[in-house]
Amino acid sequence: MVVLVQGLVARRRGPVGRMPGGAEHRSGRTSNHVSTLPTPPAAIAWGRVGRYDLSRDDVAQLLDGEPAYRATQLWEGLYRHGSDPSELTVLPRPLRERLAHDPRLAPSLVELRRSTSEQGKVVKWLWSLAGRGRVETVLMHYRDRSTVCISSQAGCAMGCGFCATGQAGFQRNLTAGEMVEQVIRAAAAARAGGRRLSNVVYMGMGEPLANYERVWASVERIHDELGLSARHLTVSTVGIVAGIRRLARERLPVNLAVSLHAANDQLRNSLVPVNHRYPLAALMEACRAYLDAKGRRLSFEWALMDGVNDRPRDAAELVTLVRPLRAHVNLIPLNPTPGWPTRGTPPHRVRAFRDELVALGVNATVRRNRGTDIDAACGQLAAAEVGSVDSVASMASAEATGAGASG
Ligand code: SAH
Ligand code: SF4
Repeated sequence: MVVLVQGLVARRRGPVGRMPGGAEHRSGRTSNHVSTLPTPPAAIAWGRVGRYDLSRDDVAQLLDGEPAYRATQLWEGLYRHGSDPSELTVLPRPLRERLAHDPRLAPSLVELRRSTSEQGKVVKWLWSLAGRGRVETVLMHYRDRSTVCISSQAGCAMGCGFCATGQAGFQRNLTAGEMVEQVIRAAAAARAGGRRLSNVVYMGMGEPLANYERVWASVERIHDELGLSARHLTVSTVGIVAGIRRLARERLPVNLAVSLHAANDQLRNSLVPVNHRYPLAALMEACRAYLDAKGRRLSFEWALMDGVNDRPRDAAELVTLVRPLRAHVNLIPLNPTPGWPTRGTPPHRVRAFRDELVALGVNATVRRNRGTDIDAACGQLAAAEVGSVDSVASMASAEATGAGASG
């Protein structure tokens, strides 16, 4: 555990902190220099910079010598249309060609595999990150919305034993641009299918609040440039109290989801190791502070594990924690992973657990692995298995067997 916490601190202090154009990139340059770009190819080789890591000033600089409106055209092409600069016919051909070869405008994500299921209602991408690492993104279409679940880190250092991402260990933080690009690529795919991307959830690989600055920079960019309102953006956390408190001070009231899974410290310590650092009392206080600051309904995720956290006394403990917050509980039958022997709770007991919560006055739903939300899909992400389509396949089968009948 000590190692885990030290890891967190080390990453926060690490050199890879900001969007290009941020403070550390400015230092060491002439004092009136507004925005400087990292020097390729080193930055590119490390996978730190791509087209969506550039600030608007950076884009203007790239087009130095061109009329100012060209920067607007390029910016809008990137954000509003998700276009590759080489496709931007609004730009003169020589400029387009120059931009097409500019490494600072290279995409960060290289598609290794795209899997679809349920007649295209679920799309999953496995990306190779320029430089290092692989992550996944899932797009799900519902009757009334299209939601993308994005990754915030390659791997995860939090060590939750039941989670495939946690089992794979931590590789690196994603840049803000790498997160934004997942959204842009999903939005483009949605548009191609006649849909509009409406929601973003940070529920893919990684712990968003362990990569705070970059995650928040991406939230702001998605909000400001893609026009998604804060209530359509959800950050999920394993319970990093310091991060929740920080989130409560931000300008945008995003939705907060907390992966709880246990309502007493002893059990939670064993399932979610970061609970040693941030025990339940501190976590619930931070949740209360978030609720007070933002007025957004909180949600708690609970992966139901057979004989572990699905007994009547687990329901009773959970109720004492969440009822005072008038929070919502999302029940997800545990998806079995190779590194964790426990099975998911069988469907009839999942429903019984839900009924128990409801009878005790808590708003609870069982997530169909697809159909109501996509958390379960996200919990199954394991890009280490290159090309695996298991998560999409099992989402479909869970629905077919009624394992996740919606509550
Ligand atoms: N790290 C953040 C964001 C990832 S969200 C967090 O933990 O909240 C992924 C969600 O899927 C979390 O609620 C996680 O607890 C859950 N999850 C992970 N592994 C799972 C599994 N095997 N079965 C069901 N849910 C799982
Ligand atoms: Fe990380 Fe979340 Fe998986 Fe835990 S559940 S290992 S915090 S991704």
